Amino acid sequence: MSREPWAEALYARIRGCTSCALAQTRALAVPGEGPLDAEVMLIGEAPGANEDKQGRPFVGQAGQFLDELLAAAGLARAEVYVCNVLKCRPPANRDPLPGEIDACRDYLDEQIDMVDPLVIVTLGRFSMAKFFPAQTISRVHGRAREIAGCFYVPMYHPAAALHQQSLRAIILEDFRELGALLERARRTRGAGTPARVVGPTEAARLVPALSAVKGASPPPANSAGQPAIQGRLFNE
Ligand code: SF4
Repeated sequence: MSREPWAEALYARIRGCTSCALAQTRALAVPGEGPLDAEVMLIGEAPGANEDKQGRPFVGQAGQFLDELLAAAGLARAEVYVCNVLKCRPPANRDPLPGEIDACRDYLDEQIDMVDPLVIVTLGRFSMAKFFPAQTISRVHGRAREIAGCFYVPMYHPAAALHQQSLRAIILEDFRELGALLERARRTRGAGTPARVVGPTEAARLVPALSAVKGASPPPANSAGQPAIQGRLFNE
């Protein structure tokens, strides 16, 4: 199926979804948005109050900060695909419940398969846990891992950085590295690494095994001839 009708059908299913209790309290479901062939996909946690009203992801203060962070990476919002682990707002912005994440899981997996990005940026601990279940964000933020031709990089959630000033500089620094990572991902995909030879669910399950064989490829050199992201890959 080509991407446009795929997205249309997927978004319609999400907007009409009643698979968990959040369907009863949401105003609008928030499927996600961005180019269907985006090279970079950002995955947040769940819609907030503004997103719930508008049916669009990252439209509040955190969204404005996200735009600044993307600019630091040399990217514009219009170039990236943005979505969340949960498509509906938890009441009072509470943390997602495990049952809600399970109920919503297939939608996100399908979005990843549909867009097939080169780089997936997880924003916050709930989206990080999908790909790096045994990690803590303070230890691995900003450090990428390649799995089957796609680079996954966990970052702090922009909303957390808005509320905790000490995180601002950290998340900004992590985003500054994103441009170099994207360039590396382009070279890796261009060099013939097959795109997504495993599906996302399987990839998440295989993270420890794959990191052992995929994390050792050399990083590209920057303009100074130094490895651009040396030491930024991590293993379990
Ligand atoms: S959060 Fe996900 S599973 Fe729950 S109702 Fe919304 S779309 Fe359906």
